[in-house]
Amino acid sequence: MKVYFDNAATTPLDPEVFETMRPIMLDMFGNPSSTHSHGREARTKIEHARRTVAELLNTSPSEIFFTSGGTEADNTAITCCVEAYDLKHIITTEIEHKAVLETSRKLENSGKVKVSYLELDDEGHINMDHLNELLKNNSRSMVSIMHANNEIGTLNDINAIGEMASQYDAIFHSDTVQTMGHFAHDTESLNCHFLVGSAHKFHGPKGVGFLRVCKSKKIGRFVEGGGQERNHRGGTENVHGIVGLAKALEIAYSEMNEHERYIRNLKDRMISGLKDRIPGVAFNGDIRDGYSLYTVLNVSFPPFEDNDMLLFNLDINGVSASGGSACNSGATMGSHVLNGIKADPDRQGIRFSFSKYNKPEEVDYVLDKLVEILQPAMV
Ligand code: PLP
Repeated sequence: MKVYFDNAATTPLDPEVFETMRPIMLDMFGNPSSTHSHGREARTKIEHARRTVAELLNTSPSEIFFTSGGTEADNTAITCCVEAYDLKHIITTEIEHKAVLETSRKLENSGKVKVSYLELDDEGHINMDHLNELLKNNSRSMVSIMHANNEIGTLNDINAIGEMASQYDAIFHSDTVQTMGHFAHDTESLNCHFLVGSAHKFHGPKGVGFLRVCKSKKIGRFVEGGGQERNHRGGTENVHGIVGLAKALEIAYSEMNEHERYIRNLKDRMISGLKDRIPGVAFNGDIRDGYSLYTVLNVSFPPFEDNDMLLFNLDINGVSASGGSACNSGATMGSHVLNGIKADPDRQGIRFSFSKYNKPEEVDYVLDKLVEILQPAMV
């Protein structure tokens, strides 16, 4: 059996999304910037997709900018905001995605901003008092805090963070890559200026995403070149990708409650199976319903001998899951997120992440394989 439990890294393409993209790739190949009928046809598809995304997020199409994915959207939100508003300070956490961490560090190294990192508890929750203190003592701040952590799944209360940021007139960006398509974001009621999405995290194609910029905020050009994306991002648009993204988000919203229930059951089955069958097992991050991304489960295995081979052994048994980030040689380098919450370095942390395409039998298979692999060490 082959089991794919790495859906936080990327999800399989939904066949319905593929069927929506196919005629765009084969027949509607016109350049959307061309004024002839082939071009106009492609332009119409992009604007229709923009309207779909905007309606789902309860915002206006003029607030949606298509990008090459979540990384570009995060980079753009932070860099453009610091520039447009001459910001001097970024408040973030040490467990953000590298798209946020490296962008902030680069701006700090160039002398443009100071970066402050919020105190975290051992489940990855931020200290709201610390956020309040940092906002009080630093004007011209931007807050960049993810909605759900991609490695441990802990959710941040972005409503509360946004409210606090607005009390101090700070700009708020949330990396929503892991929750877009899995939670119903209503931008109207959310005090968040910048949200991001990446299609391949919700069964859409890779290499396409979007940035939502609240109409009260302005950003400059972020890719030099032609006048695409209303003169902000030069470059011929990824038409089929954009259409696929909109279709994938539409499907995600229409089936959200059903999928949440289904996937939560898979995760609960995995949690209870692990607790029953592997003595000493624990979990990284907050696993309570409502405090945790229902697609992600980060398991902390007791320090058995050969634990560092666990991912490899799962892989040879047909199970794809993930550990820390891989370096170029393929070896894992540890995880900045697990280090950030001061997880015990002697315990192996493995992320299992689920999607609507996974089955309860797959959970049972992975549990059996884990017991088989760990059995010699457990006796
Ligand atoms: N932010 C988070 C939280 C992510 O999990 C990812 C992808 O893993 C990204 C940003 C980057 O998204 P993309 O792969 O579309 O560049």
